[in-house]
Amino acid sequence: MLDFNNTEIAFLSKSNNDLRNAHLLYSTIASPALVKGAKGISEFALKMGVPVGWAVKPTLYRQFVGGETLDECTKTVEILSRENVKSVLDYSAEGGKELGDVERAYQETIRSIDYAKGNPNIAYTVFKPTAMVVGPVLEKASEGLHLNDIEKTEMDNFRTRIFSLCRRAYENGVRILIDAEHYATQDIIDKITEEAMEMFNKESVIVFHTLQMYRHDRIAYLKYLHLEAKKKNYKPGIKFVRGAYMEEERVRAGVRGYLSPIHATKADTDRSYDDGLRYVVDNINDFELFSGTHNYESNYLLASLIQEKGLSKNDPRIFFSQLFGMSDNISFALAREGYNICKYIPYAPVKDVLPYLLRRAEENTSMAGQTGRELSLIKAEMNRRNMRLI
Ligand SMILES: Cc1cc2nc3c(=O)[nH]c(=O)nc-3n(C[C@H](O)[C@H](O)[C@H](O)COP(=O)(O)OP(=O)(O)OC[C@H]3O[C@@H](n4cnc5c(N)ncnc54)[C@H](O)[C@@H]3O)c2cc1C
Repeated sequence: MLDFNNTEIAFLSKSNNDLRNAHLLYSTIASPALVKGAKGISEFALKMGVPVGWAVKPTLYRQFVGGETLDECTKTVEILSRENVKSVLDYSAEGGKELGDVERAYQETIRSIDYAKGNPNIAYTVFKPTAMVVGPVLEKASEGLHLNDIEKTEMDNFRTRIFSLCRRAYENGVRILIDAEHYATQDIIDKITEEAMEMFNKESVIVFHTLQMYRHDRIAYLKYLHLEAKKKNYKPGIKFVRGAYMEEERVRAGVRGYLSPIHATKADTDRSYDDGLRYVVDNINDFELFSGTHNYESNYLLASLIQEKGLSKNDPRIFFSQLFGMSDNISFALAREGYNICKYIPYAPVKDVLPYLLRRAEENTSMAGQTGRELSLIKAEMNRRNMRLI
């Protein structure tokens, strides 16, 4: 029986020390004022070139990041694999938009695709499309602004980089997830991803598109993708998430005076996510599915849809996923029950991964529910182990 409240299974891979660290961390980030203050200080320190590693490394970094390099993540990948949890190694440097930063991100993503080749513990590779472009060219192009010759060349370079990452994945027989980001750049990324899926997803599903279901246009887009793919004879890989940029998107829409792309309520987002799952599982012969969520109901729903359809729990076309450091209770319970499950493991040097860490801290602060859940599970496990709460 699938049970997300079994803390013994959830924290199996965590030492008492890990649990103490997680308890302290989640108690701290439950305070919005503290997170806001820490964010301001870290951003300022980074700008001034003041090292922040000493504060971040034993806390946020240790909880949410696998290491600085692919090799440093090997131990984490191995520990997860013992419980049948696979990994997705995610180079999460969100440093700059200079050519050197883009080259570094591109080369590191190539390395991660080669690292995944033939490695049964790595389920997918992944990249952030905006890490592959120099300057604000995507934003300008999305808004239909005039691009000068240098910017046009950069748009071509961007396409070339995305296609060569997908080609490398295709040649290595490795699946690749293209993350979704801000609404302002998503139209162009949608188009390029559709082209890449058409090119590389004919024999098997290699390229996965990300649909942020907090957007009210995504169910219609999913149906459009389905029809187009049938016409063009390929299978889309669909990664569902709810979406990470809700507050910024609403502010931007307000300031620019367009209709917010985000659902009006959480219940609408939840419905849209679950409708997406139902649609893809109903048509699973035409798709592959990656469900990235910490939401209890959506995870229970997908497990029950798999059973209702008479699919095997480990049908290779369907994966569940959570972020490293979060919702281990869901990941390990699903793995124990025989479902396909992987953790997104970010890696990068401390200063480059700071924006990702601050997003996790803020997300866990703004989502009182998630932090509360993590904390009460950690406390329950500390009690079970007769550990003293700090
Ligand atoms: C494996 C994995 C990969 C991910 N990749 C991406 C990615 O590529 N791109 C990306 O943007 N995010 C990504 N995320 C983050 C994701 O989008 C969510 O921000 C995060 O997972 C929280 O949503 P949830 O479904 O886990 O949990 P829940 O707690 O059920 O949902 C929280 C989410 O609901 C939505 N929401 C909250 N309040 C409201 C409201 N009032 N009105 C409307 N909607 C609301 C927001 O999207 C919020 O993040 C990923 C997450 C995972 C687990």
